[in-house]
Amino acid sequence: MENQYTILAVDDTKSNIAMLLTHLGQQYNVIPALNGKRALAIAQKKQIDLILLDIIMPEIDGYEVCTLLKENELTRDIPVIFITAQTEEDAIEKAYDAGGIDYVTKPFRPRELLARIRRELTLQRLIKDLEASKEELRILATTDPMTKLYNRRSFADISANLLGQSKRESQNMSVLMIDIDKFKGINDAHGHDVGDAVIISMADNLRNMSRKGDIVCRYGGEEFVLLLPNTQIAGACILGEKIRQHFQESAVKIKSGGQLHVTISIGATEVDVQVEKNLEPALKRADAALYQAKEGGRNKLVTFLGA
Ligand code: GH3
Ligand code: MG
Ligand code: MG
Repeated sequence: MENQYTILAVDDTKSNIAMLLTHLGQQYNVIPALNGKRALAIAQKKQIDLILLDIIMPEIDGYEVCTLLKENELTRDIPVIFITAQTEEDAIEKAYDAGGIDYVTKPFRPRELLARIRRELTLQRLIKDLEASKEELRILATTDPMTKLYNRRSFADISANLLGQSKRESQNMSVLMIDIDKFKGINDAHGHDVGDAVIISMADNLRNMSRKGDIVCRYGGEEFVLLLPNTQIAGACILGEKIRQHFQESAVKIKSGGQLHVTISIGATEVDVQVEKNLEPALKRADAALYQAKEGGRNKLVTFLGA
């Protein structure tokens, strides 16, 4: 198990490196570095789990190496154990202040050093697991599990941020509200599973057809909102029409082997970026336009043209 960990051993004295290799080499993948510069280069390039760092070295000393490691985003999280002949309190204090996590004096006791390394690696593993769980929770909280699109809750946060940014930069912003036509009929005729597959296919298409900065959200059951930063209503309508036509002309494959033709209706509006404090008024307008598209026979894009 421990073989998978890589330790960077930094010391300008070859015999010290040899000693570390003797004691650690069986359990860990040890990469030697004979000076600070080389250590910094390796730490940036390779996946390093822990660094053993000498203090007194020519050119860049261990304190400086540690400080530079901690300043760099790529290497900040690698734990550094100082391993040095320095025993004065000043040196120890300086090592911790530079970002070291532990301090071992030379000549070191091998089993003690190994135990300290094990402890740090275990701690790192726990921190990584915790961060992975946090990330999983964040994804669960902000996305819809079925389509992987943003959910309604995260849409509120993201749109508030984007509106703020658009205000500051005096950029336009538009909204498309999209609803699948006669979706109940699809569920009734083909079952809920097929209905789900249609929603997923819809989501994938919307994601693929939108630009990088656009926000695609599953706003309700079979209802989606596209928030388009830096876009005037004319541009929004071009995209909306493209999406509407795409669904009109293509078919969704279903598990029975058949194909389903699904159309959508779209309500479009531009956010009054300078005046509106949040997205609510624009969403209301887009919803009203969507309602008109439905009333007007569906498979249509309607732009909201004032109250
Ligand atoms: P309209 O053209 O007026 O939009 O007709 P519609 O049938 O699409 O009307 P409505 O919006 O009232 O119906 C939406 C249906 O979508 C109702 C609901 O059962 C179904 N639905 C909502 N979420 C899901 C889902 O996750 N999966 C499936 N299969 N169906 C869903
Ligand atoms: Mg519908
Ligand atoms: Mg609906």
